[in-house]
Amino acid sequence: MLCCEKSLGGESMPGGENLVRVLDGSAVPGVKNLFGLSRQQLTEMMSEFGQPPYRVGQLLQAMFQHRIDSLDQVQTLPRGLRRELAEAGWTIDRPRIVETFRSIDGTERYLVAGQDGQTVETVWMPGGDGAEQGDARETGNLRATICVSSQVGCAVNCQFCLTAKLGLQRNLSAGEIAGQVIAVLERQAVQLGRDRINLVFMGMGEPFLNYDEFMAAVRLLVNEASLAESRMTVSTSGIVPGILRFAAEPVRPRLAISLNAPDDTIREAIMPITRKWKIEDVIQAAGQVPLRPRERVTFEYVLLGGLNDGLEHAEQLAGLARSAPMPVKINLIAWNPGPGISYAMPAPEQVAAFQQRLIARGVPAFIRRPRGRDIYAACGQLKRTVTEIQPALS
Ligand code: SAH
Ligand code: SF4
Repeated sequence: MLCCEKSLGGESMPGGENLVRVLDGSAVPGVKNLFGLSRQQLTEMMSEFGQPPYRVGQLLQAMFQHRIDSLDQVQTLPRGLRRELAEAGWTIDRPRIVETFRSIDGTERYLVAGQDGQTVETVWMPGGDGAEQGDARETGNLRATICVSSQVGCAVNCQFCLTAKLGLQRNLSAGEIAGQVIAVLERQAVQLGRDRINLVFMGMGEPFLNYDEFMAAVRLLVNEASLAESRMTVSTSGIVPGILRFAAEPVRPRLAISLNAPDDTIREAIMPITRKWKIEDVIQAAGQVPLRPRERVTFEYVLLGGLNDGLEHAEQLAGLARSAPMPVKINLIAWNPGPGISYAMPAPEQVAAFQQRLIARGVPAFIRRPRGRDIYAACGQLKRTVTEIQPALS
């Protein structure tokens, strides 16, 4: 049985915990955190302290642009107000990087802790998410991709994914999702405006089963941290009600669908969620998303050796892509191994042949270069793996 069956009925997890945090910005009941509250929530809260709306702008700028993480360091706010807020128990705590692992390829994997001490993983990939090469810091401006988590663990139970082994521990709050990005930008001394940062919501968890917090985090990152939504991509295992809500969002990242199989039979064997939503339902839902000029929906396809990597599968996949109601491109990901999962990595020549067959059928197809495999930072390897490897940094 799926560990998540009870929670797959709707687009968000059941939970009083979200209601609690809407009021105080924290994933932990009773902890009053301003970090993660929306502009509107902060405006209401500041008016209770008799403060004009421009104070909210100052506070958001301090947290998201200057990346200050302590209320008493926010010098744009009067000292008396800072004291008053602190006395009322308010903080501006963003998630903290508590452990860092560095790969030989420059990728860094972080354990990031929320206020209850639960950790998720965030990954920094200089030079892009595998499709681009090189760290351009020497040439003056940096390009990098940050891979962000949306839940502690995941309920979806894809058979090839290490995160699934954790089960779902809890949802992250908007502040915990956006805060991963701010913490990494600060650690890497990123200068927004000069450096080119992409975000992929492809870390631990299923973003569309934590929809409201995920989208609230996107809005914070776009509106307050000045990151472009067109440089963000969210990946979903195919939560149809979530995709339909997403289609109605005025501000949204690009969409990627983890297809991973050419037909429902294979998909159900590796992604039990297919019992709930078939490939066709997922593709039709994705077709509802109004795309920007030249935008395509990405189909992600994890190649599992001997299972879904045959040329006949490439033919079927090309058929799905060509009959989709929207323009698509395909990202091929060679399966990354993990302890306790017994699939096979595909042969490199098979991956290349699979890609060539898609291209021959007129479907744009790319191979995602694995990043940080040696530190368990690559796709599907995020499981807070700390025992197998020594931290390279602290
Ligand atoms: N939960 C979301 C986003 C996180 S997973 C989703 O499933 O889409 C990000 C991507 O990693 C997905 O496309 C998923 O299919 C892929 N993935 C999971 N485990 C993997 C593994 N062991 N090797 C390679 N890719 C994997
Ligand atoms: Fe969850 Fe994505 Fe892993 Fe599936 S692949 S278990 S949806 S994180």
